[in-house]
Amino acid sequence: MATKIDKKITGYNVVKPEDKVAAVAAPATAKEPPMAEVIQMHESVERPDTLVGSTFKIKSPLFEHALYVTINDIVLNAGTPHEQRRPFEIFINSKNMDHFQWIVALTRIMSAVFRKGGDVTFLVEEMKAVFDPRGGYFKSGGVYMPSIVAEIGSVVEQHMKNIGMIHDPEMDESTRQLIADKRAAYEAATAKKNSEVTAAPVAAAPASDSKPKLNAAGFPPGATLCAKCNTQALVLMDGCQTCLNCGYSKCG
Ligand SMILES: [Zn+2]
Repeated sequence: MATKIDKKITGYNVVKPEDKVAAVAAPATAKEPPMAEVIQMHESVERPDTLVGSTFKIKSPLFEHALYVTINDIVLNAGTPHEQRRPFEIFINSKNMDHFQWIVALTRIMSAVFRKGGDVTFLVEEMKAVFDPRGGYFKSGGVYMPSIVAEIGSVVEQHMKNIGMIHDPEMDESTRQLIADKRAAYEAATAKKNSEVTAAPVAAAPASDSKPKLNAAGFPPGATLCAKCNTQALVLMDGCQTCLNCGYSKCG
């Protein structure tokens, strides 16, 4: 907003930070704000001498040696119905020194975010979205890890699930049933196709072949990677890509 100045300017002064503080503090003293019995997480939380935590081992083909990820928690409102565990610090140890500097930087920044308080679960999504341009890798179980940072993110996610900060979205019974039906239909169709192919030349094929082999994730062989749940469970059914793990479906 423009202000028209009619008179001659005789002087000015800049508002100092102290002035602002004084202005804010003045009305606050008149009315004492109600104090709740809640411990707030902020930078001045003192680290207790002992913290509880978990250590996860990460073995990746991108790393010669295993990574050991330790996440320690602080227990807030201990012994009350509002008792809550929150991650407080993270350390990553490895024999491999090649990645030392970025690992130190990452863990210090993550620990600082943990100590700031508030919702820290966003870290998981941010880290799991990091991909390595040299390519990711499959973990045993068929889950694709786009990078080592993403795997650290999934470890943090697992830890947050263990302490009750993140809850798995509950799959309702109808979705579960739908996925089971689709899987049964797919396996029946595959078995039929296989028997048609093998029936003519090898009449005395052993019956054990009728049971299809499964891939590492426990899904039919040839299943591709689902973009939603990062599991090798995507099969083509009636012209639609259908995930037999999470139910994701894309047609055309
Ligand atoms: Zn899926």
